[in-house]
Amino acid sequence: MSAPDIGALRAQFPLLARTLAGDKPLVYLDNAATTQKPLAVIEAVDDYYRQYNSNVHRGAHQLADHATQVMEAARTSVQRFINAREDAEVIFTRGTTESINLVACSWARTFLKAGDEIIVSALEHHANLVPWQMACQATGAKLRVIPMNDAGELDLDGYRALLGERTRLVACTHVSNALGTVNPVRDIIAAAKSAGALVLIDGAQAVSHLPVDVQALGCDFYVFSGHKLFAPTGTGVLWGRRELLDAMPPWHGGGEMIETVSYETSTYNKLPYKFEAGTPHIAGNIGLGAAIDWFTAQDRAALAAHEDALLAELTARATAIPGLKPVGTARHKVSVFSFLMDGAHPHDVGTLLDQQGVAVRTGHHCTMPLMQRLGVPGTVRASLSVYNTRDDIDRFIAALEKVRKFL
Ligand code: PLP
Repeated sequence: MSAPDIGALRAQFPLLARTLAGDKPLVYLDNAATTQKPLAVIEAVDDYYRQYNSNVHRGAHQLADHATQVMEAARTSVQRFINAREDAEVIFTRGTTESINLVACSWARTFLKAGDEIIVSALEHHANLVPWQMACQATGAKLRVIPMNDAGELDLDGYRALLGERTRLVACTHVSNALGTVNPVRDIIAAAKSAGALVLIDGAQAVSHLPVDVQALGCDFYVFSGHKLFAPTGTGVLWGRRELLDAMPPWHGGGEMIETVSYETSTYNKLPYKFEAGTPHIAGNIGLGAAIDWFTAQDRAALAAHEDALLAELTARATAIPGLKPVGTARHKVSVFSFLMDGAHPHDVGTLLDQQGVAVRTGHHCTMPLMQRLGVPGTVRASLSVYNTRDDIDRFIAALEKVRKFL
């Protein structure tokens, strides 16, 4: 594994070359919210619209055939990327949120009954909490929450104590978007399996930082968003085991998801189309395929090592700033450094950083129960991706020093 050429990689992301706040170089540290897009993705989307824009699957002409073939190749890219058994297990969605809602509406509302239990963790994004609350309201099932320690690490003994014969599903994030904690998902899945429960893993923050092999993990559903993985917004994936997807009813009705339709009734299409009603986000899905092809062509182990080294340096230098308090100090983390500064609201810190060209996220990060558990109103969150550099860290630390003097 040789050191990656981050300069050359960065040059493939046109937006990173722009300035902010007048002439300040952009320091983009909001990658957990969304990543920037490489030329390979921008050009794939551009090529679709310029060269073969048309609808997929039903066309009787060459443009439609071309669009279908490229979009289905993108599905194969996803299948290989997460090592799914087959393309048909890969459902295109609008993102993580929609993928989870699909399972909550289709699987949970069909198969759960009063008294059943769903377990989530204390670290969940609202996207992996609210759909289950809604499913519980509809079915009479109960939601249980895996506790965590003050560092932001899940309490596995507490988790095992929650598991029982009523547990039907464990829905847990792979990586926390607010704190960066990498959860021990293999242990979480293995324990759930021993209790006879299904497992959904929210991989929104994992797929751009960690290798994911759904078969090796042994989970039942794995979900992620394209836009956090260098792909266009409005794209995402639900992966599920065929047996489960086959048994689940469709959740959206319309074109594409049917086999036959009469005025009285309909029969449904095979996987994956049963869950893809209507015209899909063709350009976006093609962009997702291009993003995955681009990412998998990199030396991902070297990029992960680069990111880990940057996170360690950022954490050490920021933590040394007087009055700065890290939030979330788990032993195993990726990408994210969340923090507070004495005497300042996170939003004010964010605004002062923005004035210096540094883009971070502030607030509750769609994890209000987690913020409550930690006793903080929100945090400032800096999050790294493969294209960040030592120079970004230097500028970030210099900007934080200025903020501190201003307060
Ligand atoms: N889950 C996690 C862990 C996230 O970080 C996010 C987005 O920040 C989501 C779910 C929701 O993703 P999307 O808004 O792309 O559907």
